[in-house]
Amino acid sequence: MAPQVDGFVFDLDGTVYLGEAALPGSVDAITELRRRGKQVLFVSNKPLSPRETYATKLTRLGIPTPPDAVITSGYVLGHHLAQTEPHLRYYLIGEENLRKELRSHVLTIIDELNEQDPMEVIDPAGIDAVIVAFDRTLDYRKLNTAYQALRLGARFYATNADKTCPMPGGAIPDAGGTLAALQHMTGRELELLAGKPSTLIMQVAQERLGLPAGRCMMVGDRLETDILMGQQAGMLTAVTLTGVAKREDVARMPAPPTFVINNLGDIPSLIV
Ligand SMILES: [Mg+2]
Repeated sequence: MAPQVDGFVFDLDGTVYLGEAALPGSVDAITELRRRGKQVLFVSNKPLSPRETYATKLTRLGIPTPPDAVITSGYVLGHHLAQTEPHLRYYLIGEENLRKELRSHVLTIIDELNEQDPMEVIDPAGIDAVIVAFDRTLDYRKLNTAYQALRLGARFYATNADKTCPMPGGAIPDAGGTLAALQHMTGRELELLAGKPSTLIMQVAQERLGLPAGRCMMVGDRLETDILMGQQAGMLTAVTLTGVAKREDVARMPAPPTFVINNLGDIPSLIV
């Protein structure tokens, strides 16, 4: 019997779209799910762009979406820290959009002293927590500031831990290398990860859907992140073969996803 699912969490790249094009079936499927009164959220591990950027892109591709239906790792971290540690002073290795996102949650993000001098670091004693993110403006000064603060015992958080970020024709370094460098230098372990495969991003998604996990479905193209997170959260899962995962990868999984689909167009007929 087809399960009843009332809330959906969709990964974006490789699931709903690839680059600048909607994947086959995704526009019609999401339109149909909404017509049937289902709630739909979109998640991205990337902390580079504000939620509005994803909402605008989805809308442009034929899936009209408000910003608050999008959850990024930057949003998840800001939302979580605003609830748990709103009064700390944070040092960010990250880009300007993320700084704005975190400040929108009324968090104190310390500004650099002197952008020109790589040796001038903020007093590390004034930093309560270091946040590491995907940062294409990473430099020695930032690494040094984070190192000095971590050495003095600052908390160690990250938006995402991806080693690389896929790009058309290849990939570029993501936050994983920065995290590894700081872990290597300090012997410290990361204390909080907001993005996939951490369950925090799923907790925030489920909180937003306001539904029991058993009536939610996580849909994505990566088994080791999207599907694993959905399973850990107790949701139904569907892996789509439009991105990273191949059918033979699914066959090797000890705990396979609930559904294996060719594209999102299969979903409406699988659920009640
Ligand atoms: Mg994906």
